[in-house]
Amino acid sequence: MLRIEPIPAFADNYIWLLGAATGGDGRVAVVDPGDAEPVVERLRAQNLSLSAILLTHHHYDHQGGVADLLACWPDALVAAPEDRRIGRATLRVGEGDQVAPPGLDVVFRVLAVPGHTATHIAYLADGALFCGDTLFAGGCGRVFDGSFEQLAASLRRIAALPPDTRCYCAHEYTLANLGFAQWAEPQNPELIARIAAARELRARGEPTVPSALSLELATNPFLRTAVPAVIAAAEGFAGAPLNDETAVFTALRRWKDERYD
Ligand code: ZN
Ligand code: FE
Repeated sequence: MLRIEPIPAFADNYIWLLGAATGGDGRVAVVDPGDAEPVVERLRAQNLSLSAILLTHHHYDHQGGVADLLACWPDALVAAPEDRRIGRATLRVGEGDQVAPPGLDVVFRVLAVPGHTATHIAYLADGALFCGDTLFAGGCGRVFDGSFEQLAASLRRIAALPPDTRCYCAHEYTLANLGFAQWAEPQNPELIARIAAARELRARGEPTVPSALSLELATNPFLRTAVPAVIAAAEGFAGAPLNDETAVFTALRRWKDERYD
């Protein structure tokens, strides 16, 4: 079993700190260390040593801390997708590969989830999914160098995982995402309840991440592209009928990009 803690970074990133739940020897891993400083501080304070870095994609706010972390822990494994924009990887991984961070007693399965970027991957173990900027709590990442079709397909893949999967995304964007979700589906009672719960968490300074996949399926419009109310809202933005889920997804993503963000 994993012990998972957030290390807040920048304005709204989460670097996920992974350790053995019990009986660990002090070795830990981190996911997407955009900044080294808060990681070094936390590990030094708790007398931990870094055995692995898992990267989901090349963006600076996810890999920017790697060089400085390797300066402190030169033997740490660095797992990353095949992408020349990530220079310091020691283990290139893709769909179906496995990663076993030393000292953690857990094996991650790698899922290719392109769309936000063309080479974005996610890591899954113990019912915990580290999905970077692909699925967010209440939303999803923007399309940068991937495609809308890729991101729609990646989200459908994630949606098919067991509903009790806990989704550890890399940003605290939840309240803003849920605001857009209400544009798409103002009458969804589970969405209304989720917004109230998320506001309470944020008022106490607590993260809204992770979220259960079941909650995302019930409230995240980007996973609800087959729901009539969401289709109708997306068609309202597009001004035309949308014939399949990818078209609905694309309209939702453009609507948020162009009018909400
Ligand atoms: Zn990103
Ligand atoms: Fe990011």
